[in-house]
Amino acid sequence: MTPEEDHALRRNGAVLSIDLGAIQRNYANLRSRVGDGTIAAVVKADAYGLGAVPVSRALLEIGCDEFFVATLDEAIALRRAVGDGLIYVLNGPSDIDADLFRKNNLIPIINNFEQLSEIKKINSSLDIGIHIDTGMRRFGFDVQQVPEVIAAIEPKKSQIKPAMVLSHFACADEPDHPLNRRQRELFGKALTQFSKVFPGIRSSLANSSGIFLGGEFLGDVARAGAALYGINPTPSQINPMDSVVRLRGRIAQLRFVDTLKTVGYGSRYLPSRGSIIATIPIGYADGLMRSLSNRGCAVVAGKSVPIVGRISMDSVMIDLSSLSEGHPSIGTPVDLIGPDCDIDQMAAHAGTIGYEVLTGLGQRIPKVYFNGKRTFVATAPGEPS
Ligand SMILES: *Cc1c(COP(=O)(O)O)cnc(C)c1O
Repeated sequence: MTPEEDHALRRNGAVLSIDLGAIQRNYANLRSRVGDGTIAAVVKADAYGLGAVPVSRALLEIGCDEFFVATLDEAIALRRAVGDGLIYVLNGPSDIDADLFRKNNLIPIINNFEQLSEIKKINSSLDIGIHIDTGMRRFGFDVQQVPEVIAAIEPKKSQIKPAMVLSHFACADEPDHPLNRRQRELFGKALTQFSKVFPGIRSSLANSSGIFLGGEFLGDVARAGAALYGINPTPSQINPMDSVVRLRGRIAQLRFVDTLKTVGYGSRYLPSRGSIIATIPIGYADGLMRSLSNRGCAVVAGKSVPIVGRISMDSVMIDLSSLSEGHPSIGTPVDLIGPDCDIDQMAAHAGTIGYEVLTGLGQRIPKVYFNGKRTFVATAPGEPS
């Protein structure tokens, strides 16, 4: 443990360690799978909770210069950190903010005719992306609307320039799902029509899991989020990515059970006589989901122990009875996410996906970053000192 982690643990009882070197290795791993293609980094939701600024800077260092965010404000906050890097904004413009895309040199993704007409109003040259819905039914134009979209762009007159056409898989994490192929085909049709009018337009289809579906599913620019952050993009196989985060707490209180009394809100756990119950100051307000009550686990001294009772806002109890040797004490560190208990495992216990686990962390828990030999702590949200 580094001095920074030790300090955070002593002071706050919790620390989220983020290995930027592992994010860089994951980026290189993904890049090695896409041939001539490009990997753009998806850093929306503050890089899935890990800090969009430090994450993007680490990726810039190794040559990643295209970034996707969801909202305009996320994009504006990122602009300074990534210099001339391309920033795409998935949610696109609204009726009040189109001009800010031009001012901040951002690429709006246009999802519907309303957004297209808003962006045309700014009447100056601007690259845009066009989202075509091929089966997700969330954002984007229908494939059948492509000729109408092209006409509405008014290619001869307008200053807006479609630089990318993109679509998004609904089932990329299920390689055999028939929708993957269907989406690929529909996307191919749309792309052909756009390419005729806008030669050189780039295509973007794969997310993290899509990259693992193989070459024909990639497009020119893959959009990778989860896999960069260590979430398994191939849930039916071992995780090909390096793990990025470690969530540690510190034993804040120990109780040796000699009479039969229940643990926590709602009295949902009855330890047996002789049990050792430890309290860790991490709760659902820190992103430790309440659905892990009486279900999740932690790792102490290399051994998995159960979360017992209900998770509180600021704390969680674990039962250390099964630890045969080594006496835990106040201050002993405990892994909630770590080498022996990864994000995907925690997500499975909580009945959710690693994405939700990750984006939920890091509101209150101090973050310590590693980048090669450099270690730094996050001061203001997302801004390393
Ligand atoms: C979030 C998002 C991504 C990134 O997906 P991952 O599975 O995290 O790689 C890519 N494209 C779009 C449109 C998204 O909304």
